[in-house]
Amino acid sequence: MQQQSAIVIGAGIVGLACARALAVKGFSVTVFDRNVQASGASVRNFGMIWPIGQPTGKLYNRAIRSREIWKEVAAATSIWCNQSGSLHLAYSAEEWQVLQELEIIFKNENRDVELLDAATIANQFEHIIQTNLYGGLFSKEEMLIDPREAMQELPIYLEKKYAVKFFWNTCVSKIVNQTVCIEKEQSFYKADIIFVCTGVDFETLYPNVFAQLPLTKCKLQMLRTENCLEKLNIKTAVCGGLSLLHYNSFKAAPSLQILKNKMEVEMKPYLDLGIHVMAAQNDKGEITIGDSHQYGLHTDPFDKYYMNKMVMDYLQIFLPVSETNIAETWHGFYSKLTNGDTEIFLSPEKGVYILNGLGGAGMTLSFGLAEELIDEIV
Ligand SMILES: Cc1cc2nc3c(=O)[nH]c(=O)nc-3n(C[C@H](O)[C@H](O)[C@H](O)COP(=O)(O)OP(=O)(O)OC[C@H]3O[C@@H](n4cnc5c(N)ncnc54)[C@H](O)[C@@H]3O)c2cc1C
Repeated sequence: MQQQSAIVIGAGIVGLACARALAVKGFSVTVFDRNVQASGASVRNFGMIWPIGQPTGKLYNRAIRSREIWKEVAAATSIWCNQSGSLHLAYSAEEWQVLQELEIIFKNENRDVELLDAATIANQFEHIIQTNLYGGLFSKEEMLIDPREAMQELPIYLEKKYAVKFFWNTCVSKIVNQTVCIEKEQSFYKADIIFVCTGVDFETLYPNVFAQLPLTKCKLQMLRTENCLEKLNIKTAVCGGLSLLHYNSFKAAPSLQILKNKMEVEMKPYLDLGIHVMAAQNDKGEITIGDSHQYGLHTDPFDKYYMNKMVMDYLQIFLPVSETNIAETWHGFYSKLTNGDTEIFLSPEKGVYILNGLGGAGMTLSFGLAEELIDEIV
């Protein structure tokens, strides 16, 4: 029997996860990306593989499966990955109460978490700021990768292991009858199945379909330090109290609303800009710090210094990183569903599927999600 063929449009993490899952199923896979290398959300993020942010059940299981695949890929390549865990810190009684509740809930769900008091944190994570520290929730489950490196290495891995073909610098301008059209070259490629994984580009392929979807874009500002390893080895990914309002899994804590009410009064400018603060250090000692969240189909292109300053000011509560250590700032965009769903998966025409809308969890969920969806349809 002739081998079935697949085309994936977009070499971000969603596209590469689909390419992998299709190749595992025996498809001969070709990937097109309009840039010379991935340069969208998938290289602009923290590199946090973050089960703790996912609610128990389908999403948490998907995150764990994705982490397994990241580990497999890392073991077969030079991609750095570190199951460093995560540490959510409490600097108020209300934050501490939420962490205490989460410890009980998460332990009942068999998650690998442990509440640490301030003295234990001082002992294990010497750089965490002790002033006003109540304690923290340490979870062993989170993993860090360096997205810039990983998104360069993954295509090479897929090429070598599964003979996936890549066409870079190649924008797909149209799809008709299971055939993709590269207008620039006047060339056409046909496949049995086509996946459209084009991230925040809602305008090129199926613009009318995208226009009907409850999708928006989110702009996030980010910062990265120079190599800080000699002064500061943070050992795990760290988050302040604002992050407790950000992830759906934390909604399980009965006292979260009390914390939210307090922050709405005390931290209103932060909440208005969707700022919560996380820090992740890579193997080169660089610490990626962020972020803000501004939603809308058309956000302005300019980064706001004052927003980065707010992030850095808040960071001083828990981590002594000076602004003078900042080597880079940038912003990224991801697509986000406005109806609370966690992804869009639909077929706009025979043999073509759109996968999009993974929001702030694409690095955490894509590998597992792609496997599930491709299992369902082929
Ligand atoms: C600042 C920031 C921090 C984040 N932190 C994390 C994190 O720590 N952990 C986590 O799990 N998630 C995180 N996320 C979310 C995650 O990065 C995204 O969910 C994910 O990268 C989205 O992947 P994607 O493949 O859909 O999009 P992208 O990475 O944007 O890829 C889309 C690709 O499609 C290509 N393309 C578009 N149109 C065409 C066309 N017509 N023809 C050819 N190619 C085309 C583009 O060139 C691009 O390479 C973060 C996101 C941001 C922005």
